[in-house]
Amino acid sequence: MAMTLAVFKGQMEEAIVNGRCIQTIKSVIYQAVLDISSIKEHSLIFQDAARCSRDMGVFATTSKGTAILLLAVDMEKRGETVVMIIGAGPSGLAVSACLSNKNIPHIILEKEDCIASLWRKRAYARLHLHLAKEFCALPLRPHSPATDTYMSKDDFIRYLHDYVIEFNIVPRHGRFVKSALFIQDLDKWHIEAMITDSNKMEAYASEFLVVASGENSKGVIPSIPGLENYRGVKLHSSDYKNGSEYEGKDVLVVGGGNSGMEISLDLANYRANCSIVVHSPLHVLTREMIRTGMYLLKCLRPLVVDFLMVSVAKHNYRNLEQYGIFRPRIGPFMYKQATGKTPTIEVGTVDKIKMGQIKVLPAISTIKEHSVVFQNGAEHKYDAIIFATGYESTACEWLKNHEWILKEDGMPKKPPPFHWKGENRIYCAGLSRMGLAGISKDASEIANDITAVRAEKHIRVGKALLVMAFVLQVMGNNLLLLP
Ligand SMILES: Cc1cc2nc3c(=O)[nH]c(=O)nc-3n(C[C@H](O)[C@H](O)[C@H](O)COP(=O)(O)OP(=O)(O)OC[C@H]3O[C@@H](n4cnc5c(N)ncnc54)[C@H](O)[C@@H]3O)c2cc1C
Repeated sequence: MAMTLAVFKGQMEEAIVNGRCIQTIKSVIYQAVLDISSIKEHSLIFQDAARCSRDMGVFATTSKGTAILLLAVDMEKRGETVVMIIGAGPSGLAVSACLSNKNIPHIILEKEDCIASLWRKRAYARLHLHLAKEFCALPLRPHSPATDTYMSKDDFIRYLHDYVIEFNIVPRHGRFVKSALFIQDLDKWHIEAMITDSNKMEAYASEFLVVASGENSKGVIPSIPGLENYRGVKLHSSDYKNGSEYEGKDVLVVGGGNSGMEISLDLANYRANCSIVVHSPLHVLTREMIRTGMYLLKCLRPLVVDFLMVSVAKHNYRNLEQYGIFRPRIGPFMYKQATGKTPTIEVGTVDKIKMGQIKVLPAISTIKEHSVVFQNGAEHKYDAIIFATGYESTACEWLKNHEWILKEDGMPKKPPPFHWKGENRIYCAGLSRMGLAGISKDASEIANDITAVRAEKHIRVGKALLVMAFVLQVMGNNLLLLP
């Protein structure tokens, strides 16, 4: 029996399979005539098995009598794909764009209902990109000349929105990945995700897995003696929006990184009585200094660039030690390399500290019901404590074979530039503590590597087929020679 088959993709229309009404898809993307040896409820068995893989899916007969092969739909329902990307933040989107550019099929699973959830849901209102826009573009789409050098959060979200449209990226939202496991027998990654609307589970399979769930997946609040007894408001910086509700209140910000410094400034602007705990040394630089430093690093050694940065910082800010801010012994770029800690970018906080509008305090020793005791023995009352104490990766919570690429803390085992690739076709993007510039590099490397691995596999299969064809040819000839 010969039958005309059409692979449909896009809009759905009704069709009948063995008397049952199912949905099929309109616009034809592929047509073929195949010989069918038997028909099962959800599939057809072909005489020429080589032309129909077991993934080919459901066939249906429309009212017009045409057989329809639901290849694309059925593959998606079962979640079979070449590359599975976990997370639709800038990293996941960047990898997706690079893969699309090379026509490599992939799926993105995202637990939230939007792209870039960190920027949309877990960032304070006044946030601007810390780095100049030329260091914050994703692959294949530079920022327009009209864009501000230091983009606002909203401008960056708009850029990501346009990026998604340009590269036709359609993540599967509300899919919380609970497990990803490499199954040796199948030579595939098996991924299970919970649909957040219904709590039902879905299973997917892929040849490649990309961890793009972020180095900032979860806000970290350190365990401080007595914290559990504190009666005031306590929150992580990822839950802070603006200082409007803290006017006239005593607020303590814990952490002297970029978030802590900027939130303190915001609180002071909203007339809160703000103090900040700076418990470790930090570099304070302007964003223009960092921009210049990043350009200089292209042609000068980090030691030289650091020397220049520290000299200018000393000139600009004089001695900040009298205010409780100590500079690390090594320069800002080498300090970042060694510890992952970014220099603190001065956006006006240091001026407020110098004017006495923001008080700097040492590390906390204990927290009481309404007050905090510091290591210098001082005790102050606070209405709220905001912990700008960083984030952590949660990839090891769901990635079963994490030891092939990540350490126990969910960060890469290998240092840059080798961090993005692990064993058994696993990759990670955005976990190198190198911001958006690092993400962009990871995404390109990953897409190139996947392309190379696939090409190599195709060559291997081709060679095996050639050998088989040769053996069959020889055997056939020998058979003919038999009496
Ligand atoms: C306040 C702040 C300011 C920053 N400013 C800059 C800057 O100016 N310049 C710069 O270069 N970098 C900056 N960064 C660094 C920032 O982390 C990156 O720029 C970027 O957001 C990281 O992108 P990502 O996709 O790797 O991670 P994320 O943006 O965190 O995205 C990860 C996505 O994965 C999803 N996900 C996590 N776990 C799962 C799961 N199990 N299942 C399904 N989905 C999951 C999350 O919901 C999220 O949407 C800043 C970071 C913060 C926190």
